[in-house]
Amino acid sequence: MSFETKEKDLLGRIGKLKTRSGAVETPLLFPVINPFTQLVPPSRLKEEFGFEAVITNAYILKKHVGNQPAKNGLHSFLDYDGVVMTDSGAYQILVYGDVELSPREIVKYQEYIGSDIATILDIPTGWKVTEKRAKQTVEETLKRAKQFQEFGAREDILWVGPVQGGKYLELVAESAREMGKLPFQIHALGSPTEVMERYRFDVLVDMIMAAKMNLPLDRPLHLFGAGHPFMFALAVALGCDFFDSAAYALYAKENRYMTETGTLRLNELEYFPCTCPKCAKTTPEIVSELPEKERETFLAEHNLHECAGELRRIKQAIKDGRLWEHLEMRAHGHPALLQALRRLKEYQKFIERNAPATKSSGLFYFDSIGLMRPEILSHKKKMAERYAPPKKPQTILLAPQTQMKPFHKSGTFKELLRRLPQKLRNAERMHVCFYVAPFGVVPIELDEVYPLSQHETVLPLDKETVEYVAEQVRNYIAATCYKKVILVHDKAIWNNVVRKACMKACATKNIKFQSINLHENIGKHLTEIQWRARLRQDEGAGKPV
Ligand SMILES: [Zn+2]
Repeated sequence: MSFETKEKDLLGRIGKLKTRSGAVETPLLFPVINPFTQLVPPSRLKEEFGFEAVITNAYILKKHVGNQPAKNGLHSFLDYDGVVMTDSGAYQILVYGDVELSPREIVKYQEYIGSDIATILDIPTGWKVTEKRAKQTVEETLKRAKQFQEFGAREDILWVGPVQGGKYLELVAESAREMGKLPFQIHALGSPTEVMERYRFDVLVDMIMAAKMNLPLDRPLHLFGAGHPFMFALAVALGCDFFDSAAYALYAKENRYMTETGTLRLNELEYFPCTCPKCAKTTPEIVSELPEKERETFLAEHNLHECAGELRRIKQAIKDGRLWEHLEMRAHGHPALLQALRRLKEYQKFIERNAPATKSSGLFYFDSIGLMRPEILSHKKKMAERYAPPKKPQTILLAPQTQMKPFHKSGTFKELLRRLPQKLRNAERMHVCFYVAPFGVVPIELDEVYPLSQHETVLPLDKETVEYVAEQVRNYIAATCYKKVILVHDKAIWNNVVRKACMKACATKNIKFQSINLHENIGKHLTEIQWRARLRQDEGAGKPV
């Protein structure tokens, strides 16, 4: 296998792809090289910017220089000693309607010039097309992919099997399913460029997921034509491994300056919000007055640094188990991205099944957007499918989360226990569970299991989070056989929402319900100073996550 996964978070991964020109690490961005208009020489892309791979267009090469790159090989022709991928000219089909080369000729040409990663001549679907036309593009691409298997193509090249279908998700799914049956080493999702230009990142989420859920997960996925750093986190989190960017140069031509949260115009900038080697040394005013070519090169180089920087941040986030937090931060950079993030709810189950269960760091829970996190669904599933409460106790004590974790070691909880009637303190009589944002019900015997004690939550909680937890409490009572529920009510955090949910569940099951007010029952016998000191002690003893 040419691709192996080293680290995972959500569907994102740090992987290693072996090619005949060496191994490269993913997620990987291939800057697009046009040898005839190139602003930044390919050799510098590797040395100065750290790009281990580039992509160039085989069709354009063939048209302009014929067999010339074959003379000393494509790498020498480009003056680039990293990994070279070639695209087949499909984009030109999209723009000009057709290319005058046959699928076989394009395949053989890529072999002849010595690409490391090469693409069959697919038919891109595009954006403004009827479903009928989209279906034709899928069928024709698939037909060509099957014919390709008979060409006897070079086996030392990694071949890309493109997935088409555009915004027609069932077609994307079918295309992915069929393409995935063929022995390609890499897949690519076509046609996302126009979707991205329209800021329809929610549609992009649907397209990526339709492909991802139907392709073999162990093969890397290239998101064709995606080259803006502000959407890398979203695409990586959904399992895209490769990107290509012509945008770094196209934006530069239009005086557009990429940042990890969006695009700025050079003439609107007073300060450079970037510390790359280009921006650190000058000001927008000085750059604006440079001659056109120099200004374009400056912006292209900044854009490249910005892309490389964001990919490094994403990789570190994967390594730290903090890709979700990174994604939330980026999603708040633009409403279209936040809208796209919300779309993940549709795919929560698939993401949960394929995301790692434990990580090296705890969760930061900011607000109800975080309810889509796989860790939360995973806890819900475990509680519903695999958890059985201890048999003997007939009473459940539902205690609120405490600042200190694990909850059962907190001063607040110990104090609470001391104040309960002696007969209840016996574990055989009473089963303690905590109700906790954002997870729901956490039985005392599990409260040290990751990530139930390894998370930080923002208080006060938002309405959706409170309601989610109340729903979990209700479901838990409904699914278990306790005879009595004692709720320690913490009005300051939960208002009456959890209490009402408990009452309802108990009424439905016709079991006893008792509510104790946390602060009255623990706090009232202490002076305020003692109470605050206890809380501080409680907080101070909290384990960092
Ligand atoms: Zn910069």
